[in-house]
Amino acid sequence: MTSNKQPEVNIGLVGHVDHGKTTLVQALSGEWTDQHSEEMKRGISIRLGYADATFRRCPEAEEPEAFTVDEHCDDHDVDTDHLRTVSFVDAPGHETLMATMLSGAAIMDGAVLVISATEPVPQAQTEEHLSALDIIGIDNIVIAQNKVDLVDEDRAMQNYEQIQEFVEGTVAEGAPIVPISAGQEANIDLLIEAIQSEIPTPERDPDEDARMMVARSFDINRPGTTWEDLMGGVLGGSLVGGQLDVDDEIELRPGREVEEGGQTEWQPVTTTVRSLQSGGDFVDTVTPGGLLGVGTGLDPAITKGDALAGQVAGPPGSLPPVHETFTMDVDLLERIVGDDGGEVDEISTGEPLMLTIGTATTVGSVTSARDDECEVALKRPVCAASGSKIAINRRVGARWRLIGVGTLR
Ligand code: GDP
Ligand code: MG
Repeated sequence: MTSNKQPEVNIGLVGHVDHGKTTLVQALSGEWTDQHSEEMKRGISIRLGYADATFRRCPEAEEPEAFTVDEHCDDHDVDTDHLRTVSFVDAPGHETLMATMLSGAAIMDGAVLVISATEPVPQAQTEEHLSALDIIGIDNIVIAQNKVDLVDEDRAMQNYEQIQEFVEGTVAEGAPIVPISAGQEANIDLLIEAIQSEIPTPERDPDEDARMMVARSFDINRPGTTWEDLMGGVLGGSLVGGQLDVDDEIELRPGREVEEGGQTEWQPVTTTVRSLQSGGDFVDTVTPGGLLGVGTGLDPAITKGDALAGQVAGPPGSLPPVHETFTMDVDLLERIVGDDGGEVDEISTGEPLMLTIGTATTVGSVTSARDDECEVALKRPVCAASGSKIAINRRVGARWRLIGVGTLR
């Protein structure tokens, strides 16, 4: 049986729909089939779209062939050594809202940009996702040129050059471009080698207050569960600082909307950590890296259906302020990213914007707009520290389109 190490780094998988992100995750997750704690694990991993992969090295083989996800090296008949467990965040596919990507990006330490060799570069989401990485400031990037099994050498070379041209002047300039076939599991060793060198595990300070970005929340009980068997509400997300232990007291902000005497008000929620799940295992302690499931003492009715998604958790009293309105410094893009992207007009007073801050996405109405700053009133408050980055989306036609980045005052 595998010894599952906790993932220590989050890697986003981004790129255009059908270019092979999900197939690549499967190729990298190897034969990892720990059935233990199936119920909770499934609930969390499927909904978060993450998969852990353990990179290993064959002690007898030369690099890069030595890099693998298999536990046994058949060529040399030896067991492989554990290098590092990483967690892939597979960005949702079709009709991806930029905001969803960006809220994933808030918890990513690096990214693999998957580009199919079978299509001209860039396709719409290839460009959008790269621009999002640029804005969020993720510059540890590996480019996987996928599906090379479907093209001849000339086309593969042409496509490779197109990719190089496309990333010139972006955060991905100089990133390694690794030709692979996720479908045929070819060159996966080269890809692991590139990820190992380009996306290091960030240094962490264990003495910081724990800070969890909540991406999802759920009720994991089957309908009809009797109260004796009822499990408390579950939070899914990522720890971005400090350390969390079972039995820790945590606070969630903004918390819950409570009605009192005809007035509604947001009040923080506090609860106890009952269980922690990381890397598919129940553990007593978690540190940043990887996606995390937290079993709480909360009534599952409170966590059901992502009700707490976008919130922040940490020791009571340690969290940043909650804002119902805020002022942000604004940097607009010159052009709207993607197909048919026109010029970006100034933000005007009264217009609605969709704002992504950490894992929270909320609509805000602009109450005052000047050249490079604007004030917004939010539909749902957010918990965020001064200096936080905000992805700004404007409604263009039927879609929200990324138009710039804000910095919370
Ligand atoms: P996603 O939308 O980026 O997650 O793309 P998927 O992983 O779902 O892949 C889209 C389609 O391309 C599926 O039918 C895959 O089987 C196929 N595919 C993915 N990678 C490869 C590859 O390397 N070679 C070939 N021939 N097909 C691939
Ligand atoms: Mg997919």
